[in-house]
Amino acid sequence: MITISPGHWKPGTGAVGLIDEVTEARRVVDQILGKLREMGLRVHHVQDNTSKSQAENLRYLINAHNKTTRMLDVSVHFNAVSGTHTRAIGTEVLYKNAAVQPLAARLSKAIANAAGFPDRGAKKRNDLAFLNGTEEAAVLIEVCFVNSTVDVARYKQHFETICGAISATLAQHVRPAVNPFSSPALYGRVEKLFQNKSYVKTLLERGVSQGLFSVLWQEKFKNDTLSLTDFCGLCVLLQEERE
Ligand SMILES: [Zn+2]
Repeated sequence: MITISPGHWKPGTGAVGLIDEVTEARRVVDQILGKLREMGLRVHHVQDNTSKSQAENLRYLINAHNKTTRMLDVSVHFNAVSGTHTRAIGTEVLYKNAAVQPLAARLSKAIANAAGFPDRGAKKRNDLAFLNGTEEAAVLIEVCFVNSTVDVARYKQHFETICGAISATLAQHVRPAVNPFSSPALYGRVEKLFQNKSYVKTLLERGVSQGLFSVLWQEKFKNDTLSLTDFCGLCVLLQEERE
């Protein structure tokens, strides 16, 4: 249900500072994969060990992600600024598709809380090959800055907690409730529609404007308390009107 890869293609090809981005991104991804599998989630692992250039690497990662069946693409990176800094700089999560903005914000907050990093939050980016090329909703996690002594110390100290926070947030996103259907495939398809926030918003507006259900459902949606089964029920009511 989720495809995850560490950024870049071999140690030294990403940011290098007090720690090596590629080495650490691979450690984080391995840890997250283990935790998600323990939770019973289906995850695909992509790792590039063969590319010779940044362009080749991006093509490799995008193609490998797009070959998998999943509802979310995740790329793990570490950030960099020039020089070495003694202040904490923090974590941020990049996204392009507005549907995963709340997930990006939750991931950034969860990582920041786990390690005591400043929470730089969800950042929309239209210029990143990974976010532009992957066909499902995607997030790119920048765990912390490799050239902040405080970030790196906190990262090392809280490695397990950070990976646990990322795993729990991803698991909650793809599996917010138990499967209410007898078919995992049906669950996957309905769940994907439910995660498409603009789709749900439009559907609710239609139902309310046709007087089929109360504005209360729009409030629930805004408060993030609309459940998958609520969503299914409202879809049935909309269908009834058409017949
Ligand atoms: Zn990177």
